[in-house]
Amino acid sequence: MNILVLNCGSSSIKYQFFDMDKEVALAKGMISRIGMTGAVLTHKPFDRKEVKVSGEILDHIVATSYVISILLSANHGVIKDKSEIHAVGHRVVHGGEQFTQSVLITDEVMSEIRNLIDLAPLHNPHNLRGIQACNKTLPNIPQVAVFDTAFHCMMPPTAYIYGIPHVLYKKYGIRRYGFHGTSHFYVSERAAELLGKPLNQLKMATCHLGNGASISAVNRGISIDTSMGFTPLEGLLMGTRSGDMDPAIILHIMGREELSLHEANTLMNKHSGMIGISGVSSDMREIIDAANAGHTNAKLALDIYCYRLKKYIGGYAMAMGGLDAIVFTAGIGENSPLVRELTCQGLDFIGVELDKEKNSTAIGKEMIISSDSSRIKVLAIPTNEELVIARDTKDIINGIIK
Ligand code: AMP
Repeated sequence: MNILVLNCGSSSIKYQFFDMDKEVALAKGMISRIGMTGAVLTHKPFDRKEVKVSGEILDHIVATSYVISILLSANHGVIKDKSEIHAVGHRVVHGGEQFTQSVLITDEVMSEIRNLIDLAPLHNPHNLRGIQACNKTLPNIPQVAVFDTAFHCMMPPTAYIYGIPHVLYKKYGIRRYGFHGTSHFYVSERAAELLGKPLNQLKMATCHLGNGASISAVNRGISIDTSMGFTPLEGLLMGTRSGDMDPAIILHIMGREELSLHEANTLMNKHSGMIGISGVSSDMREIIDAANAGHTNAKLALDIYCYRLKKYIGGYAMAMGGLDAIVFTAGIGENSPLVRELTCQGLDFIGVELDKEKNSTAIGKEMIISSDSSRIKVLAIPTNEELVIARDTKDIINGIIK
């Protein structure tokens, strides 16, 4: 079974095309600048060189037809006929409380995803646009929605209820939902395999450190707490998001600077975090380079980043009543020995011993990076959210998930 996985953003679509009988990606790519000048499709078949195609890509319907055309193209394609696309799996960011697992997309499911736009105005509309585009470009091909929030649906109310009047939870659904669920799920499963232990016997802190960042307490395979909240703004320091802070600060700044709701939202989501503190960049590589060159605020941003992560790991160890493994993933977690080292520094008292040699070689590959004697294991694991989406899509089509 061949499955096309789509991750649709406002002006971009990332895709991977899988042969799920062999569980291999035949091609992957991305369209950026949809609806703008300079739109470009970058496509990489598994066995040939990457190609770039520019075009007038006005909307998601045109964008998906570009993806299908290149999958079929004589020089860069991997299939000969559209009928070789058997299903499409979509990343959908917000599943609210109703979607606790992946589902086959029907008209009812689409209207429920639409109803959730209020909770995820920056994400769900674009995910829906991708689904609608496939309805047009790949009619009659089954589509499946895989939700970022679903893995966190077993969190207990002690983890998801905020300290505000309970009526606001009932009225507006204001609670912790958590995000990056497919990634936390994937790396926790892989970590159990690498450690040679059943997932249901392990307590893990999984750290997804990309442009957006979150950590989850995965207790025996179940996410019992996670750092992102009602929106992806809460929790760890991120590239451009503030993460945790006193909510009164927002009200204070709005008053002093006479900011509108929209401006305050932009300030917290786009101009805060690493870029806000350092004034240098939101990109961890540039922060590290600047810190090494003596830039004081870049060093400060890096130190705060790792300090907060360490505090969360400690909190989650307490919440789970123990810790067997710390897992690092996503752009920073997979590739930065320095961030992993600074985060694990001083944790020997609870049984974390990083192996410096192994840590320095674990760049973009799966590895246990703690010493053999470390009681708590530390792992670096490249995430693969697309594979999780493709697996769920296959299982739904085959009737394994109902
Ligand atoms: P993602 O959102 O998962 O693509 O991750 C993007 C983040 O990963 C950016 O902050 C990058 O700077 C960071 N990143 C990628 N490679 C490295 C690296 N070798 N060292 C440090 N950070 C990296």
